[in-house]
Amino acid sequence: MQNQDLTGRRALVTGGASGIGLATVTMLARRGAKVAMNHLEDDPAGKEQVGRLKAEGLDVIAAPGDVSILETAERMVEKAVADLGGLDYLANNAGISGTKDPIPPADLDRIGEELWQALLATNLVSVFRVSKAASGALKEAEGAVVNTASTSGLGLQGSSIPYAASKSGVVSLTRSLARALAPKVRVNAVAPGQVATPWTADWPAERKQAALDKSLIKRHVQPEDVAELITFLLTGAKMITGQTIVIDGGMTVS
Ligand code: NAD
Repeated sequence: MQNQDLTGRRALVTGGASGIGLATVTMLARRGAKVAMNHLEDDPAGKEQVGRLKAEGLDVIAAPGDVSILETAERMVEKAVADLGGLDYLANNAGISGTKDPIPPADLDRIGEELWQALLATNLVSVFRVSKAASGALKEAEGAVVNTASTSGLGLQGSSIPYAASKSGVVSLTRSLARALAPKVRVNAVAPGQVATPWTADWPAERKQAALDKSLIKRHVQPEDVAELITFLLTGAKMITGQTIVIDGGMTVS
């Protein structure tokens, strides 16, 4: 499974220009897949990372478009599927926290409509929109979908009430989409704890140490660890669908 040859397979990864998304693009492409890297249109990392991976000899193309907006999400998927010549694998990974520091649950005054709208549109509704737009191509290829949820979607506090709710929504939507796209397409999710990506890079050392203290495996989860699980759920795992798999080094069972 580890070194499965994915030559001839086609993949789309949203939020693919950094962190978990970039590690997933890289892993799929290094195994031979042609990969469309979705990124925000104005994010310079998109162009940079596509150029860097192409220079490595990998078959990676850009798929710019904001997945939180219906029209751009649909247009992005349509073009990516056309450019790739079909679609075997979809990773719905784009996400935001909408806040630099965590908002304690009791601090209701810091949670406004704007934060709700932004987090639901980007973290949850985008997953439905992108999957719906890609569903025809995925069914044709008998492909698979993996969504990036979070341990906060399974009861942990997370960075804010709307963030946790958006990720709980992803867990629920994963089951619903598994029913909707069966039997041809499998749909699963990964639920990372704290991962060492640009997302967490500026977090205070104490917050990172607290995660390490709770971890059973005693090292930070790396983007490549999550990419490996996403790749397994996309390309192997033939009898797994509708599931959300926690990847947190045992943090939530310690
Ligand atoms: P990241 O910030 O490095 O990557 C997220 C990417 O999504 C960025 O490149 C960003 O520009 C892109 N993005 C944001 N909004 C977008 C939009 N509307 N359209 C297209 N792209 C958009 O962070 P990451 O840690 O790699 O996060 C990836 C996913 O993992 C997110 O869904 C996040 O909620 C989830 N997650 C992360 C952690 C963690 O600790 N890092 C933990 C649990 C879950």
